[in-house]
Amino acid sequence: MNELIWRDFYFMILDRFPHVAEGAFKPEFDAIRWDDWPAGFAAWCTGQTGYPLVDAAMRQLNHCGWMHNRLRMVVASFLTKDLGLDWRLGEKYFADRLIDFDLAANNGGWQWAASTGCDAQPYFEFSTRSRNRKNSTRTANSSVNTFPNWPI
Ligand SMILES: Cc1cc2nc3c(=O)[nH]c(=O)nc-3n(C[C@H](O)[C@H](O)[C@H](O)COP(=O)(O)OP(=O)(O)OC[C@H]3O[C@@H](n4cnc5c(N)ncnc54)[C@H](O)[C@@H]3O)c2cc1C
Repeated sequence: MNELIWRDFYFMILDRFPHVAEGAFKPEFDAIRWDDWPAGFAAWCTGQTGYPLVDAAMRQLNHCGWMHNRLRMVVASFLTKDLGLDWRLGEKYFADRLIDFDLAANNGGWQWAASTGCDAQPYFEFSTRSRNRKNSTRTANSSVNTFPNWPI
């Protein structure tokens, strides 16, 4: 029952606040300066970040078009908080691949993870360590292969 309430809640948000389809529920959060890092986004999409949980989830999505709710939360948080990439990139990637894609639920889930939504967790950068590594990786070599090659 609780889960169905989330579905209807996000339906209501999209109906009453249609601007969420394009931008943050809270307009002040449109000022967040997301990074421009195509190689990082490509690694996330293809499940090659080096973080086994993230990579397994993304590979499942690519393979069968589905992912458990908790993993959606993990990979969305990773994209926005660790890689510092715009939630709309992930939202569109999910929209193109999820067999249960729904604009309201997908948008609500992404804005929750990015901390831009109505019910979102407070904004923070989840891991300064991985972002620092990313930044040093970016200066040295922008290739996807520069992520740590942890076993999956
Ligand atoms: C980043 C992100 C993106 C998401 N994208 C979508 C999407 O495109 N389409 C979609 O239907 N759900 C989406 N969700 C919500 C949730 O992940 C799925 O609804 C859930 O995985 C479906 O699994 P289930 O059928 O076993 O759900 P159950 O846990 O059995 O719940 C029953 C039903 O309630 C609804 N529901 C459950 N959790 C949520 C939730 N958090 N938000 C809204 N509705 C919910 C669904 O209709 C679901 O089928 C997203 C969540 C996140 C974090």
